[in-house]
Amino acid sequence: MIQLKTAIVTGASRGIGAATALMLSKLGYSVAVNYRENKAAADETVKRITAAGGDAFSVRADVSDPEGVKELFRIAGAPDVLVNNAGISHIGLLQDMTDGEISRLIGTDLVGVILCSREAARLMVPKKSGCIINIASMWGEVGASCEAVYSAAKAGVIGFTKALAKELGPSGIRVNCVSPGVIKTDMNGELTRETLEELAGDTPLLRLGTPEDVAAAVGFLVREESSFITGQILPVNGGIVI
Ligand code: NAP
Repeated sequence: MIQLKTAIVTGASRGIGAATALMLSKLGYSVAVNYRENKAAADETVKRITAAGGDAFSVRADVSDPEGVKELFRIAGAPDVLVNNAGISHIGLLQDMTDGEISRLIGTDLVGVILCSREAARLMVPKKSGCIINIASMWGEVGASCEAVYSAAKAGVIGFTKALAKELGPSGIRVNCVSPGVIKTDMNGELTRETLEELAGDTPLLRLGTPEDVAAAVGFLVREESSFITGQILPVNGGIVI
């Protein structure tokens, strides 16, 4: 029996993570579909993958919880690919944010990436192969007003990617980052239609991105032909931030 390559995609119950899980399954990966609380949506992602002939299973874990992350990797096993996608956002003035909101955001969007990458590194280094892809944001590159903590977390992800690529390169492990612009997902559900239209109008390609646009960039980075690419930040933003 041919052993499938394996992937863990964090936050794959919805949006970019779900599209990425589907894309990786089409590339032949067995995918662990991680989620935090939305089991029905995660199971729906699994159903879409298996209906298309792929292999997947859902795993609940909060990426900001070190024990939860260990359990995720215990269940999913050593992955060939880890996509650190799970994330939350918060729009509002810094002075209005509570301690809990700040630590939840940094805990999920930055510490979660670090914790999952640490578990992956522990399992990938002995195999001398692996690929880690972190989903950052254009706000981590240029900063967004009223999203200062989110921007800081994503800037941290970009710095972490560059550093870890240097640390793990000699072990045959590549670490890259995809940096999306405005993508149509639940994360932007609070924005009005007018705001979304304005954002699309400000984008040189005159549209918002789709989860599949971001998944395609992940697909480019994981493939064998990209084996000399590491430590890079790949923007998928329609040209809004150059
Ligand atoms: P989304 O539709 O809101 O989905 C978020 C996903 O993350 C869900 O699967 C959610 O699981 C999961 N999640 C949240 N907190 C988690 C935790 N602590 N542990 C495990 N899973 C957790 O978001 P999205 O727009 O697809 O965003 C995906 C990534 O892209 C994020 O890192 C985001 O910052 C980044 N990004 C998005 C945009 C955009 O415009 N949408 C732009 C740039 C970057 P549940 O369903 O269980 O809650």
